[in-house]
Amino acid sequence: MKQFELSTKNYEFVTITAQVRQAVRESGVIEGLCCVYCPHTTAAISINENADPDVVRDLLFALKDTFPDRAEFCHFEGNSAAHLKSSMVGASETIPISEGDLVLGTWQGIYFCEFDGPRTRRYYVQVTGEKE
Ligand code: ZN
Repeated sequence: MKQFELSTKNYEFVTITAQVRQAVRESGVIEGLCCVYCPHTTAAISINENADPDVVRDLLFALKDTFPDRAEFCHFEGNSAAHLKSSMVGASETIPISEGDLVLGTWQGIYFCEFDGPRTRRYYVQVTGEKE
């Protein structure tokens, strides 16, 4: 398993496709699965369009609009809206590997989603499968 570290801003999606793709290449796996996992409760992993940056901007807007900060929240840390976004988006993505590469659509990219930064974050890439 490979571990990656990144520094995030307050609220953003960070493209991690190249790092994940590199981890798959280094694993030597030809046919298998790649799991990208986020060990944090106010961040997430997601796959979405990487061509038009406005898609990510709209996602960030809509997530904030759907899960705003609310006075009714009880959590002492005051970041329940970020916890909600993390659970809704999810802690991991599993991507098939074929012919030694990630099976991603033309417009798909893998994102580390920060909902409560700035922070130093980690994510893990676990590759399993047949090597030849
Ligand atoms: Zn919290």
